[in-house]
Amino acid sequence: MDEVTLLGITSALLAERDRLAHEIADLERDSAQAQSETSGENNYRDHMGDQGTATFGKELDMTLEGNARELYEGVLSALARLEAGSFGTCVRCGKQIAEGRLLAMPAAELCIECKEWEESR
Ligand SMILES: [Zn+2]
Repeated sequence: MDEVTLLGITSALLAERDRLAHEIADLERDSAQAQSETSGENNYRDHMGDQGTATFGKELDMTLEGNARELYEGVLSALARLEAGSFGTCVRCGKQIAEGRLLAMPAAELCIECKEWEESR
């Protein structure tokens, strides 16, 4: 992989890291808000329908937050691999990950063969 490609990937990862950090902060604020709204609601209203919706919204937020955190961790470890000079090698088999795959998904940790193997388990 040439220097220019690597620089492009580095800046894409840094931008993605910032985006995800913001997204996680937003989701955390939202779920804290949802929590206080839900408990506030219980004080003066016992409405099953509304409560169900609030719970569903909260669970959805938590799933989104979990996904964002997972992506964030992936981006951080890709940046760590960049720093260590091991970026672009599959963490399972140690082979070079195809450049096209890295360009499409800079945080990829596995080569396509290992990814398919993991998904087929
Ligand atoms: Zn592999």
